[in-house]
Amino acid sequence: MSEDRLNISVQVRGRRVVVVGGGSAALRRVGRLLRAGALVEVVAWQVEAALDDLAQRGDIGWHVRDLRPEDLQGAWLVVAATGSADQDAAVLRQADASSVWSIGPEHGALLAAPAVASPAVQDGASVLAPGSVTLVGGGPGDEGLLTVAGLRAVQGADVLVVDRLAPLTVLDGLGDHVEIIDVSKIPRGRATSQEAINAVLVQRARADRRVVRLKGGDPYVFGRGMEEVIACAEAGVPVFVVPGVTSAVAAPELAGIPVTHRGLSQGFTVVSGHVPPGDPRSAVDWAALAVAGTTLVVLMGVQTLPEIAAALLAGGMTPQTPLASVMDAGLPGQRTLTATVGDIARDGCHPALRAPAVTVIGAVAALAERRPPGTR
Ligand code: SAH
Repeated sequence: MSEDRLNISVQVRGRRVVVVGGGSAALRRVGRLLRAGALVEVVAWQVEAALDDLAQRGDIGWHVRDLRPEDLQGAWLVVAATGSADQDAAVLRQADASSVWSIGPEHGALLAAPAVASPAVQDGASVLAPGSVTLVGGGPGDEGLLTVAGLRAVQGADVLVVDRLAPLTVLDGLGDHVEIIDVSKIPRGRATSQEAINAVLVQRARADRRVVRLKGGDPYVFGRGMEEVIACAEAGVPVFVVPGVTSAVAAPELAGIPVTHRGLSQGFTVVSGHVPPGDPRSAVDWAALAVAGTTLVVLMGVQTLPEIAAALLAGGMTPQTPLASVMDAGLPGQRTLTATVGDIARDGCHPALRAPAVTVIGAVAALAERRPPGTR
């Protein structure tokens, strides 16, 4: 950027922004402009399919022609994004002659850093404000699978309340002032009660700290996230949620198993196996799942897997149905064990099976074996 130019910040919400060009250069800009609330008008003979779709849904205007002087009337900003340096320069000159602000490709990102999380999730309030709690879904364990919004929240926290299945590598390098509170619940081992977790979230927020609750996977998939949200809301503490990549989908995926695949499975059901079939606490209709014809994904089902397999067979599932258990997904020790439902019902689990594991039952589970050895 030369010395005769200034970096300034422009309010575009509700204002007309003309984007000249419809190719990938325009596509780069339009998402951010819409997010900022601009009324986007694209002027181009042709546009990428994603822009065509936005135009058809009425989210942007599309004028199929060259830029005309009247396009600039009432425009707040002109974005030169034709993909050609010469044409962009001509657009910038035209904007200049009409005294309209303009930017070209030499301007880098429109926003220096991505926003923390979507306004839809955040309800317009400010994430990470002192005195608030933000629940962050950390993904299955590999910090690369933490979302951008999640990582930014973690990096802005004063207090981090963490679980053992969250991507704990992100704790390395946080400032010394950051308080880290481990509230892991280990199956049949050490555990912090949910009431104690809720209390610590509320107490730290009331002390005006920026509290981030880092959980494994997605906060609302067997994560008791809603209980924490309710506890904060009842205490009058502002609370936000950043969704995460759930292990229910990611663990199979990291082992090469798609939860749906054309011709094999038209859907998937995620269930908790923490109580066995027939247990008074179980509300799962295993016989219905046995004949659903879709993929079954079982979380928290290591101990109960033989009983689950038996219940599925009793419900009419064929014994040859493939089954794959993915352990420590996204972590250095990731391992997959494969079998059939009949094997597990008859012989019990492989002795090496241990938590945390996600078990996939259905035709797609056979795809795990097709992966070249040594890849993840
Ligand atoms: N909220 C989490 C699930 C919490 S329940 C999510 O959306 O992923 C805990 C269960 O998740 C474990 O018993 C196991 O079944 C599964 N799980 C979580 N992380 C896992 C991982 N890295 N590898 C395999 N299974 C995992």
